[in-house]
Amino acid sequence: MYICCVHAPHDASKTTFSVPKNEGEKEKWEKALGMVLKKSHRVCAKHFETYDIKSTWESGEGLNKYTICLKIPRLVEGAVPKLMLNCERKVSNDQNKNVEV
Ligand SMILES: [Zn+2]
Repeated sequence: MYICCVHAPHDASKTTFSVPKNEGEKEKWEKALGMVLKKSHRVCAKHFETYDIKSTWESGEGLNKYTICLKIPRLVEGAVPKLMLNCERKVSNDQNKNVEV
């Protein structure tokens, strides 16, 4: 099992993605996460929007079009992670609850 390389405390997802091989893409990830990424690093799904993650593969056109369910979700081309995405929302929800109490 892979472990998310983002050090910020968060509820890491079991779904992780490898760092892009493309240097330009990797730089975007590094800027977004504020850290240096190694080839062996993995970033978990919590840092991506749901539309950044592809769990199906579409191919062909018209009548020949077919969709394959991917066993391992892939990232949409050009997707860039955010340091804290789902976690930020979760924290703000918790704060609201505290106010009510
Ligand atoms: Zn993570």
